[in-house]
Amino acid sequence: MSGANNQTPIIQGWCPGALRPMQSGDGLVVRIRPRGGRLTPDQARAIATMAMAHGNGLIDLSSRANVQLRGVTEASHPALIEGLRALDLIDANAEAEARRNIVVTPFWDASDATQDLAARMTQALSTANAPALPGKFGFVIDTASVPMLREVSADIWLETGPDGLLLAAADHPLAKPVTAATAIPEAVALAHWFIIKGGVTEGRGRMAALLKRHALPEGFTVPRLPVVAPPRPGPSAQGQLVGFEFGQMQAETLAALADLGALRITPWRMLLIEALTEAPQISGLITDAADPMLRVIACTGAPGCLQAHAATRPLARSLAPRLTETLHVSGCAKGCAHPTAAPLTLTATSEGFALIRNGTASGTPLRVGLSAADLTETNILTETP
Ligand code: SF4
Repeated sequence: MSGANNQTPIIQGWCPGALRPMQSGDGLVVRIRPRGGRLTPDQARAIATMAMAHGNGLIDLSSRANVQLRGVTEASHPALIEGLRALDLIDANAEAEARRNIVVTPFWDASDATQDLAARMTQALSTANAPALPGKFGFVIDTASVPMLREVSADIWLETGPDGLLLAAADHPLAKPVTAATAIPEAVALAHWFIIKGGVTEGRGRMAALLKRHALPEGFTVPRLPVVAPPRPGPSAQGQLVGFEFGQMQAETLAALADLGALRITPWRMLLIEALTEAPQISGLITDAADPMLRVIACTGAPGCLQAHAATRPLARSLAPRLTETLHVSGCAKGCAHPTAAPLTLTATSEGFALIRNGTASGTPLRVGLSAADLTETNILTETP
């Protein structure tokens, strides 16, 4: 059986940034990479104002813990960049921006090394001799009390291990012990090793693919800690975690959240409001850990994305109450909203939806040619083993 991508999506090989926005069905998508995965209240408030002034007021949270402004125009883009530059959210150029692909755990506190490591990693990736990595190559700093970011689509991890910091590559189960002092040079050396071993072909390549052809260098001997389930909305030691339907909010919501404190961006399309002890009473938030909308992930889909074969979010919304496991609805085989495997995936094709179990949006389908009515009016989804 062929994969779900019988209509191969256009693979850009790069992710949109602020300086290099991507055209979508509703205008330019401008992706902001908050430094250290954190926005101060002033930054968040200003982003909300600019999303209304220069975009269509819709703000997405991405699976790489970035903030995306939608509906920006060619005419409004320069003023938006100037505004973001004044907030220290813009890099020197598009190449530097693309390299600064770092996801940071939101559960850090002042006593751990996380923010220092994030700042030093940012610095290391901005130097002239930084490794020339592919656009989608990414780093994770998962160095709070327990590692939680194993599911992020990335390539090199610094994470908490049983006896201190570890350096790890993709989903390899063994890691290399490092210290706060050696962690960044070791991570950069591993990125150089990736390039030397032929990890990059025509400007693309990922660590997981290279590890199928090459063993890691010496020193990767320590088992990584077990994966911890992603968190749900609610309180944590660092503040309140709040979610959003499909990780999208109105600019007014971001402005209201900014009044509550600094915001940490998570790869689970949630925000952590620093030091807040009570669930905020703001419309447009998911604060209940049992909310069925937390069981569905869906990309922009039609009409917002030019590559989509169907609308995704109305279908995901109608299926959510019946689900007992996570469902990813993707407008095409690219799977932007959830690049890794999900228990259930529906991928839109020109011939209906393909149903995939325990795979990605481009995985091998169990069923093809399903209509939205097939899915909402029958039990195909929950009965397919
Ligand atoms: S996965 Fe969704 S958002 Fe990504 S290109 Fe396909 S339709 Fe567009």
